[in-house]
Amino acid sequence: MVKLRLVAGDTVVVLAGKDKGKRGKIKVIDRRGWAAVEGVNVVKRHTKATPKAKAGIIEKELPLPVGKLMYVCPKCNAPAKLAFRRGQGGRERVCRRCGEPAERPVKA
Ligand SMILES: [Zn+2]
Repeated sequence: MVKLRLVAGDTVVVLAGKDKGKRGKIKVIDRRGWAAVEGVNVVKRHTKATPKAKAGIIEKELPLPVGKLMYVCPKCNAPAKLAFRRGQGGRERVCRRCGEPAERPVKA
């Protein structure tokens, strides 16, 4: 498993690559621990028509390794590391900058 404690719905900042510095929300994290982030690593795919979709050029976000992402605390509005703390509901993620718990984002 990857060390970063990110979940879908978190706001992250990109640390490396062509989208360095961009912020976005994590859409999905796959089994490899790679995350697709809104507006980051967007590629155009020329797709043929299938029974489900029409042909055309579609833009989609490709996943990137979470090691290239850093959590952005909504309270500090700054990139922050996350710590774990024992809370009411078991383990809680807290921002190491302000100490505020990072709510579990609701999946879209
Ligand atoms: Zn914070």
